Amino acid sequence: MFYGTRDTTCTLNPEFMANAYETPVEIDLADKSAEYTEKVKANELNPIVSVYESLLSLGTNSILEKTQKKYIRICNFIAINTFAASLVYLILAILWEKWYWFNSILALTITCVCVLFLNGFNKTSMSRLTYMLGINALVLLNALFIGPEAKGESFFIIAIIIPFLIYDIKEIGFIASGIIIPLVFIFAYAFVTPFFTAYNLGHEQQILLYRIGIVIQVLLSLGAVYQFVYYSKKAENDLDTSNQQMSLQTNELKRSNSDLEQFAYIISHDLKAPVRNISSFMNLLVNKHGAGLNPEAREFVEYSRSGAKRMERLIDDVLAYCRIGTNLSKPTPVNLNDVVNTIRFELHDKLTAAHGTVAINKELPVISNVHSSLMYHVFQNLITNGLKFNKTDAPEITVSWTNSLNYYTFSVRDNGIGISKEYSATIFQMFKRLHNESEYDGTGIGLAICKKIVEYYHGEIWFESEAGKGTTFHFTIRKF
Ligand code: ADP
Repeated sequence: MFYGTRDTTCTLNPEFMANAYETPVEIDLADKSAEYTEKVKANELNPIVSVYESLLSLGTNSILEKTQKKYIRICNFIAINTFAASLVYLILAILWEKWYWFNSILALTITCVCVLFLNGFNKTSMSRLTYMLGINALVLLNALFIGPEAKGESFFIIAIIIPFLIYDIKEIGFIASGIIIPLVFIFAYAFVTPFFTAYNLGHEQQILLYRIGIVIQVLLSLGAVYQFVYYSKKAENDLDTSNQQMSLQTNELKRSNSDLEQFAYIISHDLKAPVRNISSFMNLLVNKHGAGLNPEAREFVEYSRSGAKRMERLIDDVLAYCRIGTNLSKPTPVNLNDVVNTIRFELHDKLTAAHGTVAINKELPVISNVHSSLMYHVFQNLITNGLKFNKTDAPEITVSWTNSLNYYTFSVRDNGIGISKEYSATIFQMFKRLHNESEYDGTGIGLAICKKIVEYYHGEIWFESEAGKGTTFHFTIRKF
Protein backbone atom coordinates (compact mmCIF):
# COMPACT_ATOMS: atom_id res chain seq x y z
CA MET A 1 0.00 0.00 0.00
CA PHE A 2 1.55 3.29 -1.06
CA TYR A 3 0.79 6.50 0.74
CA GLY A 4 1.66 10.03 -0.44
CA THR A 5 5.29 10.85 -1.16
CA ARG A 6 7.92 8.59 0.41
CA ASP A 7 10.57 10.27 2.49
CA THR A 8 13.78 8.37 1.86
CA THR A 9 16.02 10.75 3.76
CA CYS A 10 14.67 9.88 7.12
CA THR A 11 17.03 10.67 10.00
CA LEU A 12 16.81 9.88 13.67
CA ASN A 13 16.54 12.88 15.92
CA PRO A 14 19.14 12.28 18.69
CA GLU A 15 16.83 13.61 21.36
CA PHE A 16 13.96 11.64 19.99
CA MET A 17 14.58 8.26 21.62
CA ALA A 18 15.09 9.85 24.99
CA ASN A 19 11.91 11.88 24.65
CA ALA A 20 9.78 9.06 23.31
CA TYR A 21 9.64 7.16 26.56
CA GLU A 22 10.25 9.95 28.97
CA THR A 23 7.68 10.12 31.74
CA PRO A 24 5.00 12.81 31.18
CA VAL A 25 5.85 16.31 32.39
CA GLU A 26 5.20 16.59 36.09
CA ILE A 27 2.93 19.51 36.79
CA ASP A 28 4.54 21.64 39.41
CA LEU A 29 2.59 20.32 42.33
CA ALA A 30 5.45 20.49 44.77
CA ASP A 31 4.95 24.20 45.39
CA LYS A 32 1.25 23.72 45.79
CA SER A 33 1.61 20.91 48.30
CA ALA A 34 4.16 22.94 50.30
CA GLU A 35 1.73 25.83 50.35
CA TYR A 36 -1.03 23.49 51.45
CA THR A 37 1.11 21.88 54.16
CA GLU A 38 1.97 25.31 55.51
CA LYS A 39 -1.69 26.19 55.63
CA VAL A 40 -2.55 22.94 57.37
CA LYS A 41 0.23 23.51 59.90
CA ALA A 42 -1.02 27.03 60.58
CA ASN A 43 -4.53 25.69 61.08
CA GLU A 44 -3.29 22.93 63.35
CA LEU A 45 -1.71 25.57 65.56
CA ASN A 46 -4.90 27.57 65.68
CA PRO A 47 -7.94 25.35 66.33
CA ILE A 48 -10.41 28.23 65.98
CA VAL A 49 -9.14 29.04 62.49
CA SER A 50 -9.17 25.36 61.67
CA VAL A 51 -12.82 24.93 62.78
CA TYR A 52 -13.80 28.14 60.98
CA GLU A 53 -12.06 26.92 57.77
CA SER A 54 -13.81 23.55 58.00
CA LEU A 55 -17.17 25.22 58.46
CA LEU A 56 -16.49 27.48 55.46
CA SER A 57 -15.62 24.47 53.32
CA LEU A 58 -18.75 22.46 54.16
CA GLY A 59 -20.28 21.06 50.97
CA THR A 60 -17.52 22.30 48.69
CA ASN A 61 -15.98 18.87 48.19
CA SER A 62 -19.04 17.58 46.39
CA ILE A 63 -18.84 20.38 43.83
CA LEU A 64 -16.35 20.10 41.04
CA GLU A 65 -16.94 23.45 39.44
CA LYS A 66 -14.73 26.08 41.02
CA THR A 67 -17.20 28.96 40.63
CA GLN A 68 -19.94 26.94 42.38
CA LYS A 69 -17.58 26.27 45.29
CA LYS A 70 -17.30 30.01 45.72
CA TYR A 71 -21.08 30.38 46.20
CA ILE A 72 -21.24 27.54 48.72
CA ARG A 73 -18.39 29.03 50.73
CA ILE A 74 -20.04 32.45 50.76
CA CYS A 75 -23.31 30.83 51.87
CA ASN A 76 -21.42 29.16 54.74
CA PHE A 77 -19.73 32.45 55.59
CA ILE A 78 -23.05 34.31 55.79
CA ALA A 79 -24.67 31.49 57.79
CA ILE A 80 -21.76 31.43 60.32
CA ASN A 81 -21.87 35.21 60.77
CA THR A 82 -25.66 35.32 61.01
CA PHE A 83 -25.36 32.62 63.66
CA ALA A 84 -22.78 34.68 65.59
CA ALA A 85 -24.97 37.82 65.37
CA SER A 86 -28.04 35.87 66.49
CA LEU A 87 -26.15 34.77 69.63
CA VAL A 88 -25.79 38.46 70.61
CA TYR A 89 -29.54 38.93 70.22
CA LEU A 90 -30.26 35.70 72.10
CA ILE A 91 -28.26 36.91 75.11
CA LEU A 92 -30.10 40.23 75.06
CA ALA A 93 -33.47 38.46 74.79
CA ILE A 94 -32.62 36.34 77.84
CA LEU A 95 -31.37 39.36 79.81
CA TRP A 96 -34.49 41.36 78.98
CA GLU A 97 -36.73 38.30 79.35
CA LYS A 98 -38.46 38.92 76.02
CA TRP A 99 -39.50 35.36 75.21
CA TYR A 100 -41.47 35.95 72.00
CA TRP A 101 -38.51 37.74 70.53
CA PHE A 102 -36.22 35.08 72.00
CA ASN A 103 -38.14 32.39 70.09
CA SER A 104 -37.86 34.18 66.76
CA ILE A 105 -34.10 34.67 67.28
CA LEU A 106 -33.74 31.03 68.32
CA ALA A 107 -35.45 30.03 65.07
CA LEU A 108 -32.90 32.15 63.18
CA THR A 109 -30.02 30.46 65.04
CA ILE A 110 -31.42 27.01 64.26
CA THR A 111 -31.89 27.98 60.59
CA CYS A 112 -28.19 28.91 60.36
CA VAL A 113 -27.19 25.59 61.91
CA CYS A 114 -29.48 23.77 59.46
CA VAL A 115 -27.88 25.60 56.53
CA LEU A 116 -24.42 24.46 57.62
CA PHE A 117 -25.67 20.91 58.23
CA LEU A 118 -27.29 20.72 54.81
CA ASN A 119 -24.05 21.89 53.18
CA GLY A 120 -22.19 19.36 55.30
CA PHE A 121 -24.39 16.66 53.77
CA ASN A 122 -23.79 18.10 50.30
CA LYS A 123 -27.37 19.33 49.95
CA THR A 124 -26.03 22.62 48.74
CA SER A 125 -29.07 23.74 46.72
CA MET A 126 -31.45 23.01 49.57
CA SER A 127 -29.19 24.76 52.07
CA ARG A 128 -29.08 27.98 50.05
CA LEU A 129 -32.84 27.91 49.56
CA THR A 130 -33.32 27.31 53.31
CA TYR A 131 -31.12 30.29 54.12
CA MET A 132 -32.92 32.53 51.64
CA LEU A 133 -36.42 31.64 52.89
CA GLY A 134 -35.41 31.43 56.58
CA ILE A 135 -33.61 34.75 56.70
CA ASN A 136 -36.54 36.63 55.15
CA ALA A 137 -39.16 35.07 57.41
CA LEU A 138 -37.06 35.67 60.52
CA VAL A 139 -36.05 39.23 59.64
CA LEU A 140 -39.78 39.91 59.40
CA LEU A 141 -40.58 38.29 62.77
CA ASN A 142 -37.59 39.92 64.44
CA ALA A 143 -38.54 43.39 63.17
CA LEU A 144 -42.16 42.87 64.28
CA PHE A 145 -41.25 41.74 67.81
CA ILE A 146 -38.56 44.37 68.43
CA GLY A 147 -40.60 47.35 67.30
CA PRO A 148 -40.43 50.10 64.63
CA GLU A 149 -37.75 52.23 66.31
CA ALA A 150 -35.07 49.57 65.85
CA LYS A 151 -35.70 49.63 62.07
CA GLY A 152 -35.12 45.85 61.89
CA GLU A 153 -36.78 45.87 58.45
CA SER A 154 -33.58 47.43 57.05
CA PHE A 155 -32.11 43.89 57.17
CA PHE A 156 -34.30 43.21 54.12
CA ILE A 157 -31.78 45.27 52.09
CA ILE A 158 -29.15 42.67 52.96
CA ALA A 159 -31.66 39.93 52.20
CA ILE A 160 -32.02 41.38 48.68
CA ILE A 161 -28.23 41.39 48.14
CA ILE A 162 -27.68 37.84 49.46
CA PRO A 163 -28.99 35.94 46.38
CA PHE A 164 -26.38 37.71 44.24
CA LEU A 165 -23.68 36.45 46.60
CA ILE A 166 -24.80 32.84 46.94
CA TYR A 167 -26.05 32.12 43.40
CA ASP A 168 -24.39 32.29 40.03
CA ILE A 169 -25.94 35.09 37.98
CA LYS A 170 -27.06 32.42 35.50
CA GLU A 171 -29.33 30.90 38.16
CA ILE A 172 -31.78 33.63 37.38
CA GLY A 173 -34.80 31.83 38.90
CA PHE A 174 -33.24 31.70 42.39
CA ILE A 175 -31.95 35.26 42.17
CA ALA A 176 -35.36 36.57 41.07
CA SER A 177 -37.11 34.74 43.93
CA GLY A 178 -34.42 36.03 46.30
CA ILE A 179 -35.40 39.59 45.35
CA ILE A 180 -39.16 39.11 45.19
CA ILE A 181 -39.49 37.42 48.62
CA PRO A 182 -38.00 40.33 50.68
CA LEU A 183 -39.98 42.86 48.63
CA VAL A 184 -43.21 41.00 49.44
CA PHE A 185 -42.17 40.75 53.11
CA ILE A 186 -41.47 44.50 53.29
CA PHE A 187 -45.07 45.12 52.23
CA ALA A 188 -46.32 42.48 54.66
CA TYR A 189 -44.33 44.17 57.42
CA ALA A 190 -46.08 47.49 56.81
CA PHE A 191 -49.49 45.84 57.12
CA VAL A 192 -48.98 43.60 60.14
CA THR A 193 -46.87 45.93 62.32
CA PRO A 194 -49.88 47.24 64.32
CA PHE A 195 -50.78 43.70 65.44
CA PHE A 196 -47.40 43.27 67.16
CA THR A 197 -47.25 46.57 69.08
CA ALA A 198 -48.16 44.78 72.30
CA TYR A 199 -45.09 42.53 72.05
CA ASN A 200 -42.58 45.29 71.19
CA LEU A 201 -39.50 46.00 73.33
CA GLY A 202 -39.10 49.18 75.27
CA HIS A 203 -37.97 52.45 73.65
CA GLU A 204 -34.39 52.29 75.06
CA GLN A 205 -34.01 48.67 74.05
CA GLN A 206 -35.20 49.41 70.50
CA ILE A 207 -32.70 52.27 70.15
CA LEU A 208 -29.86 50.04 71.41
CA LEU A 209 -30.87 47.31 68.96
CA TYR A 210 -31.03 49.88 66.16
CA ARG A 211 -27.36 50.73 66.81
CA ILE A 212 -26.33 47.09 67.14
CA GLY A 213 -28.25 46.36 63.93
CA ILE A 214 -26.32 49.02 62.00
CA VAL A 215 -22.98 47.61 63.18
CA ILE A 216 -24.02 44.05 62.30
CA GLN A 217 -25.31 45.10 58.87
CA VAL A 218 -22.10 46.96 58.03
CA LEU A 219 -19.87 44.10 59.25
CA LEU A 220 -21.94 41.44 57.49
CA SER A 221 -22.01 43.39 54.20
CA LEU A 222 -18.29 44.15 54.26
CA GLY A 223 -17.43 40.56 55.16
CA ALA A 224 -19.69 39.12 52.45
CA VAL A 225 -18.33 41.48 49.78
CA TYR A 226 -14.76 40.65 50.85
CA GLN A 227 -15.51 36.92 50.64
CA PHE A 228 -17.12 37.39 47.24
CA VAL A 229 -14.16 39.31 45.81
CA TYR A 230 -11.63 36.97 47.43
CA TYR A 231 -13.23 33.79 46.16
CA SER A 232 -13.95 35.23 42.71
CA LYS A 233 -10.26 36.02 42.38
CA LYS A 234 -9.32 32.61 43.79
CA ALA A 235 -11.71 30.81 41.42
CA GLU A 236 -10.23 32.78 38.51
CA ASN A 237 -6.68 31.85 39.54
CA ASP A 238 -7.62 28.20 40.05
CA LEU A 239 -9.22 28.17 36.61
CA ASP A 240 -6.09 29.67 35.09
CA THR A 241 -3.92 27.08 36.83
CA SER A 242 -6.05 24.14 35.70
CA ASN A 243 -6.19 25.56 32.14
CA GLN A 244 -2.42 25.78 32.14
CA GLN A 245 -2.14 22.23 33.47
CA MET A 246 -4.55 20.99 30.85
CA SER A 247 -2.73 22.68 28.00
CA LEU A 248 0.57 21.30 29.32
CA GLN A 249 -0.87 17.80 29.42
CA THR A 250 -2.42 18.18 25.95
CA ASN A 251 0.90 19.34 24.50
CA GLU A 252 2.68 16.49 26.21
CA LEU A 253 0.18 13.99 24.85
CA LYS A 254 0.51 15.42 21.35
CA ARG A 255 4.28 15.27 21.62
CA SER A 256 4.38 11.69 22.87
CA ASN A 257 1.86 10.61 20.21
CA SER A 258 3.84 12.18 17.43
CA ASP A 259 7.07 10.75 18.89
CA LEU A 260 5.59 7.27 18.93
CA GLU A 261 4.38 7.65 15.36
CA GLN A 262 7.78 8.93 14.33
CA PHE A 263 9.32 5.95 16.12
CA ALA A 264 7.02 3.48 14.33
CA TYR A 265 7.75 5.22 11.05
CA ILE A 266 11.51 5.07 11.47
CA ILE A 267 11.50 1.43 12.56
CA SER A 268 9.25 0.43 9.66
CA HIS A 269 11.23 2.48 7.19
CA ASP A 270 14.53 0.93 8.29
CA LEU A 271 13.06 -2.58 8.34
CA LYS A 272 11.91 -2.33 4.76
CA ALA A 273 15.29 -2.71 3.07
CA PRO A 274 16.41 -5.91 4.92
CA VAL A 275 12.99 -7.51 4.45
CA ARG A 276 13.07 -6.69 0.75
CA ASN A 277 16.55 -8.25 0.59
CA ILE A 278 15.29 -11.47 2.21
CA SER A 279 12.40 -11.57 -0.23
CA SER A 280 14.64 -10.94 -3.28
CA PHE A 281 17.24 -13.56 -2.25
CA MET A 282 14.51 -16.11 -1.58
CA ASN A 283 13.18 -15.45 -5.10
CA LEU A 284 16.68 -15.79 -6.52
CA LEU A 285 17.17 -19.04 -4.61
CA VAL A 286 13.95 -20.50 -6.03
CA ASN A 287 14.62 -19.23 -9.58
CA LYS A 288 18.29 -20.30 -9.77
CA HIS A 289 18.47 -23.39 -7.59
CA GLY A 290 14.80 -24.33 -7.24
CA ALA A 291 15.26 -27.43 -9.41
CA GLY A 292 18.07 -28.73 -7.18
CA LEU A 293 16.10 -28.42 -3.93
CA ASN A 294 14.25 -31.37 -2.49
CA PRO A 295 10.46 -30.92 -1.90
CA GLU A 296 10.86 -30.35 1.84
CA ALA A 297 13.52 -27.64 1.29
CA ARG A 298 11.30 -26.00 -1.35
CA GLU A 299 8.40 -26.00 1.11
CA PHE A 300 10.56 -24.29 3.74
CA VAL A 301 11.73 -21.69 1.24
CA GLU A 302 8.09 -21.07 0.24
CA TYR A 303 7.17 -20.46 3.89
CA SER A 304 10.05 -18.02 4.26
CA ARG A 305 9.04 -16.27 1.04
CA SER A 306 5.42 -15.78 2.12
CA GLY A 307 6.58 -14.71 5.60
CA ALA A 308 8.82 -12.05 4.11
CA LYS A 309 6.00 -10.93 1.80
CA ARG A 310 3.61 -10.61 4.70
CA MET A 311 6.21 -8.64 6.64
CA GLU A 312 6.57 -6.28 3.68
CA ARG A 313 2.80 -5.75 3.65
CA LEU A 314 2.75 -5.14 7.38
CA ILE A 315 5.56 -2.62 7.12
CA ASP A 316 3.81 -0.85 4.24
CA ASP A 317 0.58 -0.68 6.23
CA VAL A 318 2.28 0.61 9.38
CA LEU A 319 4.05 3.23 7.29
CA ALA A 320 0.73 4.16 5.69
CA TYR A 321 -0.83 4.49 9.13
CA CYS A 322 1.99 6.73 10.37
CA ARG A 323 1.86 8.91 7.29
CA ILE A 324 -1.80 9.89 7.64
CA GLY A 325 -1.97 13.65 7.93
CA THR A 326 1.67 14.23 6.98
CA ASN A 327 3.03 15.62 3.70
CA LEU A 328 -0.46 16.53 2.57
CA SER A 329 -1.05 19.21 0.00
CA LYS A 330 -3.87 21.76 0.46
CA PRO A 331 -7.28 20.09 0.49
CA THR A 332 -9.19 20.43 -2.77
CA PRO A 333 -12.78 19.56 -3.74
CA VAL A 334 -12.95 15.80 -4.28
CA ASN A 335 -15.55 14.10 -6.43
CA LEU A 336 -16.24 10.93 -4.46
CA ASN A 337 -17.90 9.28 -7.49
CA ASP A 338 -14.49 9.38 -9.18
CA VAL A 339 -12.86 7.90 -6.08
CA VAL A 340 -15.30 4.97 -5.88
CA ASN A 341 -15.19 4.43 -9.66
CA THR A 342 -11.38 4.21 -9.54
CA ILE A 343 -11.61 1.56 -6.82
CA ARG A 344 -14.25 -0.31 -8.81
CA PHE A 345 -11.98 -0.21 -11.85
CA GLU A 346 -8.99 -1.48 -9.87
CA LEU A 347 -11.07 -4.30 -8.40
CA HIS A 348 -12.51 -5.24 -11.80
CA ASP A 349 -10.80 -8.64 -12.07
CA LYS A 350 -11.58 -9.62 -8.49
CA LEU A 351 -15.21 -8.51 -8.87
CA THR A 352 -15.61 -10.49 -12.09
CA ALA A 353 -14.09 -13.58 -10.55
CA ALA A 354 -16.36 -13.38 -7.51
CA HIS A 355 -19.47 -12.23 -9.49
CA GLY A 356 -19.50 -9.21 -7.21
CA THR A 357 -20.82 -5.69 -7.68
CA VAL A 358 -20.00 -2.30 -6.21
CA ALA A 359 -22.97 0.05 -6.54
CA ILE A 360 -23.41 3.73 -5.71
CA ASN A 361 -26.88 4.16 -4.26
CA LYS A 362 -27.19 7.88 -4.94
CA GLU A 363 -24.67 10.03 -6.78
CA LEU A 364 -21.96 10.88 -4.24
CA PRO A 365 -21.19 14.51 -3.42
CA VAL A 366 -18.18 16.58 -4.33
CA ILE A 367 -16.70 17.54 -0.97
CA SER A 368 -14.14 20.15 -0.13
CA ASN A 369 -11.60 20.26 2.72
CA VAL A 370 -10.50 16.65 2.15
CA HIS A 371 -7.72 14.90 0.27
CA SER A 372 -8.56 12.47 -2.49
CA SER A 373 -5.72 10.13 -1.45
CA LEU A 374 -7.14 9.81 2.09
CA MET A 375 -10.74 9.44 0.93
CA TYR A 376 -9.51 6.79 -1.50
CA HIS A 377 -8.01 4.77 1.33
CA VAL A 378 -11.14 4.83 3.46
CA PHE A 379 -13.41 3.68 0.63
CA GLN A 380 -10.80 1.24 -0.67
CA ASN A 381 -10.40 -0.49 2.71
CA LEU A 382 -14.13 -0.72 3.35
CA ILE A 383 -15.05 -1.90 -0.15
CA THR A 384 -12.20 -4.44 -0.28
CA ASN A 385 -13.22 -5.79 3.14
CA GLY A 386 -16.84 -6.08 1.96
CA LEU A 387 -15.66 -8.19 -0.91
CA LYS A 388 -13.07 -10.17 1.05
CA PHE A 389 -15.16 -11.10 4.10
CA ASN A 390 -17.94 -12.47 1.95
CA LYS A 391 -18.92 -16.05 1.26
CA THR A 392 -21.95 -15.43 -0.97
CA ASP A 393 -22.08 -16.34 -4.66
CA ALA A 394 -22.62 -12.71 -5.58
CA PRO A 395 -21.03 -10.23 -3.15
CA GLU A 396 -22.88 -6.91 -3.20
CA ILE A 397 -21.33 -3.73 -1.92
CA THR A 398 -23.39 -0.55 -1.85
CA VAL A 399 -22.10 2.93 -1.14
CA SER A 400 -24.63 5.51 0.04
CA TRP A 401 -24.62 8.82 1.91
CA THR A 402 -26.77 11.32 3.78
CA ASN A 403 -26.34 15.00 4.35
CA SER A 404 -26.77 16.93 7.61
CA LEU A 405 -25.96 20.46 8.72
CA ASN A 406 -22.38 19.84 9.81
CA TYR A 407 -21.53 16.38 8.53
CA TYR A 408 -21.69 14.06 5.56
CA THR A 409 -22.42 10.48 6.60
CA PHE A 410 -21.21 7.78 4.22
CA SER A 411 -22.16 4.11 4.42
CA VAL A 412 -20.57 1.06 2.82
CA ARG A 413 -22.89 -1.95 3.05
CA ASP A 414 -22.01 -5.53 2.16
CA ASN A 415 -23.80 -8.88 2.25
CA GLY A 416 -20.83 -10.66 3.80
CA ILE A 417 -20.16 -12.75 6.90
CA GLY A 418 -20.97 -9.97 9.41
CA ILE A 419 -19.16 -8.87 12.58
CA SER A 420 -20.25 -9.55 16.12
CA LYS A 421 -21.34 -6.45 18.07
CA GLU A 422 -18.82 -7.15 20.82
CA TYR A 423 -16.04 -5.97 18.50
CA SER A 424 -17.58 -2.56 17.88
CA ALA A 425 -14.72 -0.74 19.65
CA THR A 426 -11.78 -3.11 19.27
CA ILE A 427 -12.17 -3.78 15.55
CA PHE A 428 -10.67 -0.36 14.79
CA GLN A 429 -7.51 -1.07 16.77
CA MET A 430 -4.23 -1.73 14.98
CA PHE A 431 -3.58 -5.40 14.14
CA LYS A 432 -7.03 -6.49 15.37
CA ARG A 433 -8.19 -9.38 13.22
CA LEU A 434 -11.14 -11.68 13.81
CA HIS A 435 -9.89 -14.37 11.49
CA ASN A 436 -6.55 -16.01 10.98
CA GLU A 437 -4.31 -15.57 7.98
CA SER A 438 -5.24 -18.89 6.40
CA GLU A 439 -8.95 -17.99 6.38
CA TYR A 440 -8.72 -14.42 5.08
CA ASP A 441 -5.45 -12.65 4.33
CA GLY A 442 -4.74 -9.22 5.74
CA THR A 443 -2.75 -7.26 8.29
CA GLY A 444 -5.48 -5.92 10.57
CA ILE A 445 -4.48 -2.31 9.91
CA GLY A 446 -7.07 -1.33 7.28
CA LEU A 447 -9.81 -0.28 9.72
CA ALA A 448 -7.30 1.48 11.99
CA ILE A 449 -6.25 3.52 8.95
CA CYS A 450 -9.92 4.31 8.17
CA LYS A 451 -10.49 5.46 11.76
CA LYS A 452 -7.40 7.65 11.78
CA ILE A 453 -8.35 9.30 8.47
CA VAL A 454 -11.96 9.85 9.53
CA GLU A 455 -10.82 11.36 12.83
CA TYR A 456 -8.39 13.55 10.91
CA TYR A 457 -11.52 15.07 9.34
CA HIS A 458 -13.19 15.32 12.78
CA GLY A 459 -15.57 12.49 12.01
CA GLU A 460 -16.48 9.13 13.53
CA ILE A 461 -16.62 5.59 12.22
CA TRP A 462 -18.79 2.69 13.39
CA PHE A 463 -20.59 -0.35 12.03
CA GLU A 464 -23.88 -2.16 12.15
CA SER A 465 -23.96 -5.84 11.39
CA GLU A 466 -25.96 -9.02 11.45
CA ALA A 467 -24.13 -12.32 11.48
CA GLY A 468 -24.33 -14.02 8.10
CA LYS A 469 -26.30 -11.16 6.55
CA GLY A 470 -23.72 -8.44 6.16
CA THR A 471 -22.15 -5.35 7.62
CA THR A 472 -22.62 -1.64 7.06
CA PHE A 473 -19.75 0.67 7.96
CA HIS A 474 -20.78 4.29 8.50
CA PHE A 475 -18.41 7.22 8.77
CA THR A 476 -18.86 10.95 9.02
CA ILE A 477 -16.77 13.78 7.59
CA ARG A 478 -17.15 17.26 9.06
CA LYS A 479 -18.02 19.88 6.48
CA PHE A 480 -15.73 22.67 7.67
P1 ADP B 1 -7.62 -6.81 7.46
O1 ADP B 1 -8.70 -6.69 6.45
O2 ADP B 1 -6.28 -6.53 6.92
O3 ADP B 1 -7.69 -8.07 8.25
P2 ADP B 1 -8.95 -4.64 8.77
O4 ADP B 1 -8.45 -3.70 9.78
O5 ADP B 1 -9.44 -4.07 7.49
O6 ADP B 1 -7.81 -5.65 8.54
O7 ADP B 1 -10.11 -5.47 9.42
C1 ADP B 1 -9.93 -6.02 10.68
C2 ADP B 1 -10.81 -7.24 10.88
O8 ADP B 1 -12.18 -6.83 10.90
C3 ADP B 1 -10.74 -8.20 9.76
O9 ADP B 1 -9.68 -9.12 9.95
C4 ADP B 1 -12.09 -8.88 9.80
O10 ADP B 1 -12.06 -9.92 10.77
C5 ADP B 1 -13.01 -7.80 10.30
N1 ADP B 1 -13.73 -7.13 9.19
C6 ADP B 1 -13.42 -5.96 8.60
N2 ADP B 1 -14.32 -5.65 7.67
C7 ADP B 1 -15.23 -6.62 7.68
C8 ADP B 1 -16.44 -6.86 6.92
N3 ADP B 1 -16.88 -6.02 6.01
N4 ADP B 1 -17.15 -7.99 7.21
C9 ADP B 1 -16.73 -8.85 8.15
N5 ADP B 1 -15.60 -8.68 8.89
C10 ADP B 1 -14.86 -7.58 8.66
